[in-house]
Amino acid sequence: MYKFDFVAPRTAAEAVALLQERGPGGKLLAGGTDLLLQIKARVAKPAYLVDLSHVSELARIEDRPDEGLFVGSMVRLRAIQLSSLLNERCRIVVDGAKLVGSIQIRNLATLGGNLCNAAPSADVAPPLVAAGACAEILGPSGRRRVPLDDFFVGPRRTILAPGELLLGVLIPEAPPRSGGNYLRHTPRKEMDIAVVGVGAILTLEDGYCAAARISLGAVAPTPMRARQAEAMLAGQRLSAGLIKEAGEAAAEEARPISDVRGSAEFRRHLVAELTQRTLTAAWEQAKQEASRR
Ligand SMILES: Cc1cc2nc3c(=O)[nH]c(=O)nc-3n(C[C@H](O)[C@H](O)[C@H](O)COP(=O)(O)OP(=O)(O)OC[C@H]3O[C@@H](n4cnc5c(N)ncnc54)[C@H](O)[C@@H]3O)c2cc1C
Repeated sequence: MYKFDFVAPRTAAEAVALLQERGPGGKLLAGGTDLLLQIKARVAKPAYLVDLSHVSELARIEDRPDEGLFVGSMVRLRAIQLSSLLNERCRIVVDGAKLVGSIQIRNLATLGGNLCNAAPSADVAPPLVAAGACAEILGPSGRRRVPLDDFFVGPRRTILAPGELLLGVLIPEAPPRSGGNYLRHTPRKEMDIAVVGVGAILTLEDGYCAAARISLGAVAPTPMRARQAEAMLAGQRLSAGLIKEAGEAAAEEARPISDVRGSAEFRRHLVAELTQRTLTAAWEQAKQEASRR
């Protein structure tokens, strides 16, 4: 292995100051489940690593009144899976996190690493996009907030500028009578990455669909919203037939490529099928929520 410097700050501000002081060529290290493999394969060759594992302010899940739930970038995916706050208030994010790798991987892998690695197949991104989350970013010129819809730029590329780090994501409180669900297709049951992933959140109002958000993973260079399918549902009385049509519309909107894990045609078929299934599950959940009120 080649030599690189290793620094371990205690605060996010210190991490940003270190990135600025040391200049280009550095990398932030979270759980290392993506980055260390890239270093071993010589795909990444950082001059120095800034280890975030001692930055406790990034490892918190907070309930922020009037804003929603804040999940820090260093929160491990296993902690997300087991969080009672997220299980009660944003199950779709738990749906995504619990599918990643194995327990051993989830004990190391972080939310921030999954998002900042920006793999099109990442399992935590589509649920957060469907949930309308915002990225909170810290850089040399201070903090900024960006809708997660705009965070991803391309495979392995985000809007983070040099010297910036992801503090975490802010997930707004879902309106009452909402339900959400994330599903993916993998040839193997576990330890495999998504050929297609679909997240959906539906909100009901007087028996109608007041709002729908559908996000697709692994069918475009970045996670994408299926906006035409969403528009078909908003303001309508839901039915199995309409949900099937929305699935077909989402498949039309997807921009998949063919690769070793599946052809573009197969991926479109999966988008139609998984969108239909996620919407049906989200609808059921929303109806249960509505009946409790
Ligand atoms: C066996 C195995 C199975 C896997 N299965 C899945 C799967 O099913 N689904 C899936 O989605 N992924 C899977 N992964 C990929 C990986 O585990 C996840 O993407 C994980 O969440 C990455 O988090 P990490 O903390 O390990 O990130 P790291 O590897 O530490 O970092 C990843 C990237 O993010 C950057 N980064 C990290 N934190 C920040 C921050 N706060 N601000 C800015 N940049 C940051 C790093 O610099 C690096 O470029 C798998 C990996 C392995 C090895």
